[in-house]
Amino acid sequence: MKIAERLHGMEYAIRDVAVIGDKLAREGKKIYYLNIGDPVNPQVSDFKTPSYIIDSLANAAKKGYNFYGNSLGVQELREKIAIEENRRNGLSLVADDILLTSGVSEAIFFACAALIEPGDEILVPGPVYPPYISYAKFFGGKSVEYKLDETNNWQPDIDDFASKINSKTQFILLCSPNNPTGVLYDEQFTKEIGKLAAEYDIPLVSDEIYDQIIFEKFDTYKCHVSILRDELPELPIIGMNGFSKAHLSTGWRLGYMYFHDPAGKMAQLKQSIESLARIRLCVNVPAQYAAIKTMEEPKDHTKHMVEKLLERRDYCMKRFSEIDEVSCVTPDGAFYLFPRLKFLEEGRGPWKDDKEFVLDLLAETGIMAVYGSGFGQYGINHMRFTFLPTIETLEEVFNLFEDFLKRRLTES
Ligand code: PLP
Repeated sequence: MKIAERLHGMEYAIRDVAVIGDKLAREGKKIYYLNIGDPVNPQVSDFKTPSYIIDSLANAAKKGYNFYGNSLGVQELREKIAIEENRRNGLSLVADDILLTSGVSEAIFFACAALIEPGDEILVPGPVYPPYISYAKFFGGKSVEYKLDETNNWQPDIDDFASKINSKTQFILLCSPNNPTGVLYDEQFTKEIGKLAAEYDIPLVSDEIYDQIIFEKFDTYKCHVSILRDELPELPIIGMNGFSKAHLSTGWRLGYMYFHDPAGKMAQLKQSIESLARIRLCVNVPAQYAAIKTMEEPKDHTKHMVEKLLERRDYCMKRFSEIDEVSCVTPDGAFYLFPRLKFLEEGRGPWKDDKEFVLDLLAETGIMAVYGSGFGQYGINHMRFTFLPTIETLEEVFNLFEDFLKRRLTES
């Protein structure tokens, strides 16, 4: 059978390691699932979807909302999302500016489908969340990584960024808090990126999936669109967000894109994406009704999760500070750590690269992390793991990690 060229070499490091881990688990090995950012997967973490949200889903199904819905989303939910985005980010969106999607994943897919033609490029932060690469490639385009500078708290390197914009650049992607670094972009960098985007007339796409999972800086953080709306009122921005993480419902597949477009530059683009949305009929309808309810309730579950995550992050940072061979920038939000494996850079140990290291770690200790090079060129010699598990589990993980590292480094 001839398989379409566009599917050649499709990789997703986060899930690729899971295939090996699952095999080891079937053979009876205890696996620590630190590879995947899923707060409600019981293999990963102890967080749970709040019962009132589950009840709302069940009620929606019982009430008979089991039919195909509007392709753009349930109107009441679109209205609620517009109000919430306006409240949070000082925008002036209306329901019509909101399109419900099957997670932010589908929103990324839609943006790429609408804007990328063979030969085109998109600018994405590197280290990079891998689907940005895959979707660009799927449409015959290329993702070009602008460097996030680890020595500057993983902030965008503006010179590198500026040097990579060209006439093929179709959009610029921002992701803050970032996956995999967990870091928030400083306002200054958002402004500089925004200015360059405006100068070259390139739209911004802002992945805001972790914007409710921010630690110390929660009260002062402003998302890109709220920073840029006054200074660059003509700059079109597609925002993306969803219910997976903040509302602990990853498996429901519910997200949305919003079109912030005061100058009306994206009218045609929006229409094209809406046409595409009609082809896939609609997004999970009972989940949309449950989301309406979720948005009416106080967000105690998010607050509770963030409090717990902060304790877990601090525990991990303390443990890392005791390991000389590794350094790690403190994440401002999300639930990932992206430590630098200094011994790999120095050529110490038996491993040829971060992938070999992560696979050895998995086989030996059962700790399932993701190799840094799976996040592109700027991820080399790192690994990513989540701090979603309980402190008890993280303690076991760090004890195993430390032992493993000591043993291997003295053996070699
Ligand atoms: N964007 C980023 C940066 C993510 O880390 C993830 C999931 O891990 C997604 C998007 C996907 O989110 P969703 O579940 O809404 O598809």
